[in-house]
Amino acid sequence: MSAVNDVEKVVIIGSGPAAWTAAIYAARANLNPLVFEGALSSANEMIPGGQLMFTTEVENYPGFPEGIDGPKMMDEFRKQALRFDVRIKQENIDKLDLSSRPFRLTGSEGGDATAHAVIIATGASANWLGLDSEKHFRMGGLGVTACATCDGAFPRFRDKPVAVIGGGDSAMEEALFMTKFASKVHIIHRRDKLRASKIMQQRALDHPKVQVEWNSVPLEVLGDDKAGVTGLKLKDTQTSETRELPVSGMFLAIGHTPNTAFLGGQLPTDEKGYLKLADPYRSTTEIDGAFAAGDVVDSVYRQAITAAGMGCKAAIDAERWLGDQGIE
Ligand code: NDP
Repeated sequence: MSAVNDVEKVVIIGSGPAAWTAAIYAARANLNPLVFEGALSSANEMIPGGQLMFTTEVENYPGFPEGIDGPKMMDEFRKQALRFDVRIKQENIDKLDLSSRPFRLTGSEGGDATAHAVIIATGASANWLGLDSEKHFRMGGLGVTACATCDGAFPRFRDKPVAVIGGGDSAMEEALFMTKFASKVHIIHRRDKLRASKIMQQRALDHPKVQVEWNSVPLEVLGDDKAGVTGLKLKDTQTSETRELPVSGMFLAIGHTPNTAFLGGQLPTDEKGYLKLADPYRSTTEIDGAFAAGDVVDSVYRQAITAAGMGCKAAIDAERWLGDQGIE
């Protein structure tokens, strides 16, 4: 248990654009923030750096006219935070107890903390289809992944057909990325209309290596432990007919789930599980001293720039709230 003097003014949980922006602002407000950036190898898939670690080039963040790689951008955010009085712990928060003050945080590697204020910026993690075969082939680089950027360059996909599941911007982005390596990229979409923005749709549909398999969902990932993935059993969502599609890999791009499990339902969420803010224009939650920012509260915009803006608001809100409590 921490002595009173050891109580942190503000702990920031997360390491994406929202968390690092909050850290920069909080540090410059003399709050000496402690950031739990996540464990490097994380069972709950909260990757340090957040979703931008899975992006190739970020072209829409102002200030980078030539674009910047997602992981590089997160490294720059982190470095910028470290210029100031920011402390970092490389572990996840398994539990945050908001029922008494100071709040109690239980770290995955024993780095427990107590804090007057917390900023929750834990982002969201990739969704999976939930097939047994998907789970099986996720292990050991057998060809199922939710991150083309991380895994797409592996030799097993070179000059072979691959499948990307989903019809949103992520699916288009992953599909275009995979055209660099694969002989053909099949986008498997469950409807007859894509959800992706027009420009991303066009880029994907215009690419000679991309083919959309409309009204289709994977029923099973085919293959064996030696060869890895060799194909997909697909079902036509309109006729229920099944067929096999030979592919050497399956890349999931079917959305994300906000990382809120460690909260154990202490804060209200919307129907998709995103944290609900007490005031949509600020970062306050229903519990005073608990603030939230970034993808964990945002199912609509989910952009680096909006997340960073929310992180800024959370740090300013925390600073003002701490001031009101007489904690400087
Ligand atoms: P989205 O929620 O936009 O799209 C998810 C896709 O997966 C949908 O097409 C959905 O189908 C499909 N899907 C969901 N569940 C299943 C399932 N169980 N089986 C089969 N298909 C399924 O998520 P994204 O990650 O693509 O995008 C999220 C946000 O991030 C968006 O706002 C997007 O604009 C943004 N983004 C922007 C980028 C950019 O600008 N460069 C790049 C990537 C993301 P259906 O359409 O039928 O619901």
